[in-house]
Amino acid sequence: MWINRIGWIGRAILATEILTLTILSPEFDIKSDLNEISLLAACREEENDHFRNFLEARDPLMIDNIVFALQEAVTQQIDCKKCGNCCKSLMIVVTQEELEKVAAKTNTPSDEFKSSYLAEGLSGKLIMNAMPCHFLSDNQCTIYAERFAGCREFPALHLPGFTNRFFTVQMHYDRCPIIFNVVELLKKELLFFTT
Ligand code: SF4
Ligand code: SF4
Repeated sequence: MWINRIGWIGRAILATEILTLTILSPEFDIKSDLNEISLLAACREEENDHFRNFLEARDPLMIDNIVFALQEAVTQQIDCKKCGNCCKSLMIVVTQEELEKVAAKTNTPSDEFKSSYLAEGLSGKLIMNAMPCHFLSDNQCTIYAERFAGCREFPALHLPGFTNRFFTVQMHYDRCPIIFNVVELLKKELLFFTT
């Protein structure tokens, strides 16, 4: 059991070294155009459903290790300051603690902050009441140091459990170039049939 596990880890680490070289090679075409990504994503909905099943049959630890390496390499090649699409399209959850912190930072009374910027979502959680986010200006976050946990975490490819979260990954595949490229590279590395 442990030998098996160590074997997978070893192979995953070896794979990550190869991956870094693969992604930096000129023949890999990193996509960053949101229109192109959106069109490709619409064509690949069914393919991604198959890929989800494909992933479920594989070692989740190995998948996580490959995804960690891919997201590091892809993130270096995508300029989030030019993209900003998550800030324009995500439903950001805001906790009471975050509300108070950002309200203080923006010199806004908490009640006013809540009524101006937030709404109650279906689950009862507070969410930003507008897309793009109120705090996005010239494609930059104006409260970057105090931005919300959901903003800090996204696209969350550094977190374990990629296979379990793949349904959520699919939801953001058409809007986040980092996610799109990581998923496409993962298909290639795992020799999954791609279009
Ligand atoms: S708070 Fe900042 S990082 Fe978060 S969605 Fe708004 S603009 Fe983007
Ligand atoms: S995390 Fe994704 S959607 Fe957000 S700015 Fe970066 S590439 Fe764009």
